[in-house]
Amino acid sequence: MKVLIVHAHENPDSFCSALANRAKATFEDLGHTVKLSDLYLNKFNPVGGKHDFKKLSNGNYYKYASEQMNAHEHNAFAPELKTEMKMLVEADVLIFNFPLWWFDMPAILKGWVDRVLAYGFAYGGNYGFFDKGRFKGKHAFLCVTTGSPAEFYTPAGAHGRTLTDILQNIHQGILGLVGYTVLPNFEAYGVSRISDEERAQLLVDYEAYIKKHFA
Ligand SMILES: Cc1cc2nc3c(=O)[nH]c(=O)nc-3n(C[C@H](O)[C@H](O)[C@H](O)COP(=O)(O)OP(=O)(O)OC[C@H]3O[C@@H](n4cnc5c(N)ncnc54)[C@H](O)[C@@H]3O)c2cc1C
Repeated sequence: MKVLIVHAHENPDSFCSALANRAKATFEDLGHTVKLSDLYLNKFNPVGGKHDFKKLSNGNYYKYASEQMNAHEHNAFAPELKTEMKMLVEADVLIFNFPLWWFDMPAILKGWVDRVLAYGFAYGGNYGFFDKGRFKGKHAFLCVTTGSPAEFYTPAGAHGRTLTDILQNIHQGILGLVGYTVLPNFEAYGVSRISDEERAQLLVDYEAYIKKHFA
């Protein structure tokens, strides 16, 4: 099996990065092949625009999604996008690995979604939505760290909702929409507030999560 981890943390010594590294090592121990797209390390530009395309269509009116379709049909995506798209198409499992920012993914990862899951390439044109999506038969999940502790993320807690509820837009509106079967999140709560031992246990729990789903 091939795995793609799209990693969105700037600090290689962060706990979030430790989770990405642990996932890579665990999948490799299980005999799978792992590619890690480290967005900050690669200085991935999150802003979609005309620079996404080697050439534009002849239309009179510029429209980003139409240019994505044109680039898909005429092999005109910029090289950095083609690299990401190739890794994505080859992968059987897609993981978004990120710290929760404002109840969502960081902008650098959202930009990856905007630019890489392009119209024509990932949805629209030859591809339908959900069970007719391009990535049907493949699996995806989110590995998320938070600042707030677990008890905040309950209906009765300070944030009033679970992390699964909060991240539903990503589950359904992004990953599910392009066809992935979305597995439960791996959630690492309040990682700056807990002890070294508790963080070490989270890494062990993550290993167990991966083995449960992919051994
Ligand atoms: C713009 C912004 C918006 C945010 N919005 C939210 C929000 O909506 N909700 C929310 O809950 N939080 C929010 N946060 C907080 C954010 O989610 C957390 O700061 C982040 O998830 C913590 O993860 P980290 O990897 O950055 O932790 P770090 O601070 O990098 O790591 C925590 C500790 O783990 C240690 N560590 C590293 N590697 C290991 C290892 N291998 N074993 C053991 N320990 C290790 C580190 O040394 C550090 O002491 C926000 C933060 C920002 C900047």
